[in-house]
Amino acid sequence: MTEIENVRNIGIIAHIDAGKTTTTERLLFYTGKINRIGDVDDGTTTMDWMDQERERGITIVSAATTCYWREHRINIIDTPGHVDFTAEVERSLRVLDGAIGIFCGVGGVQPQSETVWRQSERYGIPKIIYVNKLDRIGADFMKVVKEIETDLGVRCLVLQLPIGAESDFRGIIDLVEMRAIFYSGENELDAEIADIPEDLRPKAGEFRARIIEMIAEHDDEMLAKYLHDHDVDSGTLKDAIRKAVLARKLYPVLCGSSLKNRGTKLLLDAIVDYLPSPVDRGEIVGESLENTPETRFPRPDEPVAMLAFKVLNDMYFGKLLYVRVYSGQIFPGMKITNCTRNRKERILKILEVHANRFQEIEKAQAGDIVALVGCKDTYTGDTLATHDRPIILEKMKFPQPVLNMAVEPRTKADAEKVFQSLSKLSEEDPTFKIKVDQETGETIVSGMGQLHIEVLLERMKRQYKVEAKLGKPEVAYKETITREAEGEGKFIRQSGGRGHYGHVVIKIHPLRDGTPFSFKSELKGEVIPREFIPAIEEGIVEAMEIGPLKGYPVINVEVLLKDGSFHPVDSNDIAFKIAASIAFKDAYLKAHPVLLEPIMRIEITAPQEYVGDIIGDFSMRSGKIEQMMDAGNLKIIKGIVPLRTVFDYATVLRSLTQGRASYIIEPSFYQEVSEDQLRKLSEIV
Ligand code: GDP
Repeated sequence: MTEIENVRNIGIIAHIDAGKTTTTERLLFYTGKINRIGDVDDGTTTMDWMDQERERGITIVSAATTCYWREHRINIIDTPGHVDFTAEVERSLRVLDGAIGIFCGVGGVQPQSETVWRQSERYGIPKIIYVNKLDRIGADFMKVVKEIETDLGVRCLVLQLPIGAESDFRGIIDLVEMRAIFYSGENELDAEIADIPEDLRPKAGEFRARIIEMIAEHDDEMLAKYLHDHDVDSGTLKDAIRKAVLARKLYPVLCGSSLKNRGTKLLLDAIVDYLPSPVDRGEIVGESLENTPETRFPRPDEPVAMLAFKVLNDMYFGKLLYVRVYSGQIFPGMKITNCTRNRKERILKILEVHANRFQEIEKAQAGDIVALVGCKDTYTGDTLATHDRPIILEKMKFPQPVLNMAVEPRTKADAEKVFQSLSKLSEEDPTFKIKVDQETGETIVSGMGQLHIEVLLERMKRQYKVEAKLGKPEVAYKETITREAEGEGKFIRQSGGRGHYGHVVIKIHPLRDGTPFSFKSELKGEVIPREFIPAIEEGIVEAMEIGPLKGYPVINVEVLLKDGSFHPVDSNDIAFKIAASIAFKDAYLKAHPVLLEPIMRIEITAPQEYVGDIIGDFSMRSGKIEQMMDAGNLKIIKGIVPLRTVFDYATVLRSLTQGRASYIIEPSFYQEVSEDQLRKLSEIV
């Protein structure tokens, strides 16, 4: 068993095509996890194990994989770079301790890498930077370093320098050990370690001095040593770099070309040397069932606390639950409690994950990332803990899906299977939802973008062998309330024989922190027997699915159960469910309900001469420009715009700019629809 200090849970953050998959393949190859290097271009990589990822050449599911280097256990969680897969990104960032940011040596900081980078900063994740593709024409290491500093606002600590550029990129200067590494063959293990070439020595000396100076700014010990000896040994330097990285004061920068097998072995060393172990990240604070703070230290002798961060339905094992163990030890056969849902679970098997292979293990402990078999009622975001020491770790927040599409099964006979398969996929991905439209009987799926939904339909086809067509994308409007209000619902039928009796009084409040729904009972004494409370919650949840204002789902509402009454014989679940839904509608209409629409964050990159036309068109679409920047001959326009006005934006932009502009778009927030807009919608709806 690896000591916790020697565990590294890391993610890879990169813009699409920066080389995340290629780099991960090399890391797995050099750690002996795979014995042949796959190639993204011919679709033989290990990490992108789903067929469609191979076909589309993008990484979708955050596959986790474990490998070992210098007696350290490295768990790599593959973080998707595409903005449509926000849920995957957020959930992997939650369980990581450190990350590698991969940037293309030609493209530098691209919009999506910037988005995910900033997300990771919000989680306080220490990172190292790897500038890849230095073999490509136009690659410029120092230019990318400068771009990272200005665009991402971080201080880069350059630890390596490339020797040669573009097709002549043949080696790396390691500024910590002050040595040169020359690559000649296909395999990095054959690299030759040599002295730094004469002509590069002055530059190397200058950069090494800069490392020491930058560290000394934060580290008095280093400053004293440097002033005394004018240099420091590599061991001391590494320790000091590690400290600065963990504190996120500095971000070490490495260089390489993963495709040409240059630099990835040094990257493995840097993961071990500079990225945090679970111990460095310290204790985790959650809440007890009474909402008081509960702390767990990353130690095997603490009570168990684990966070479920991913569900995958596997052909062979059935439901697999990916967890990060924060404290304690777990064994197969162990009983455990899902504190979030108050359910008892049993761990049947613990699996170590190697991309698409699983290995059963006998134990996992604080700091580990493993998959569990057996936890049937546990889902993404739930906390599992020792029964007598419950804790709820901070729940992951997932954004609301913004786009709806109707799903049309090919035949009537397929309909049931399509629904079931999509329901399974929605269990795996909290930003993918499915429902049946009560008026039309159509199955509607919702997701974060068209690509997101298309990819899930593809998965359905492959995994569950059933096909369906997708209708046109439509905006997923939502409803919410703007004030608090009380409501009462009664469902009483007592006309001889056994009747129905349900009576509920509730109060509802707007939730302004983005939480979609919360329900609490504030009943005093046995006004309503406890056993009916779940039925009351269910009645409210169902009523919220079809908002009384315009029939869209209701979000951001807190419901407090205040009062009610029951009948010793006639009360039952159904009566309380109906009474609750009546109470909800009553309260809702008094609480000034409004319609919400998704607003997208957009970033357009275009040649200067088209900027005028783009801006003119953008304001006609109710877009707001927030920032404009120069990038060489190009202009980058950042802004926000309602989703409803940009469905055909790809075509619009193409015709405005003769195909010379590009854009990325991602859901940002929900905003109240104006009266004017509401009137227009009423004419359509
Ligand atoms: P991902 O989308 O970030 O996972 O990127 P991939 O690993 O799929 O790589 C995208 C493309 O860049 C593929 O065609 C790779 O062969 C290519 N690529 C990756 N690393 C390098 C590199 O170091 N040099 C060059 N020239 N191409 C690379």
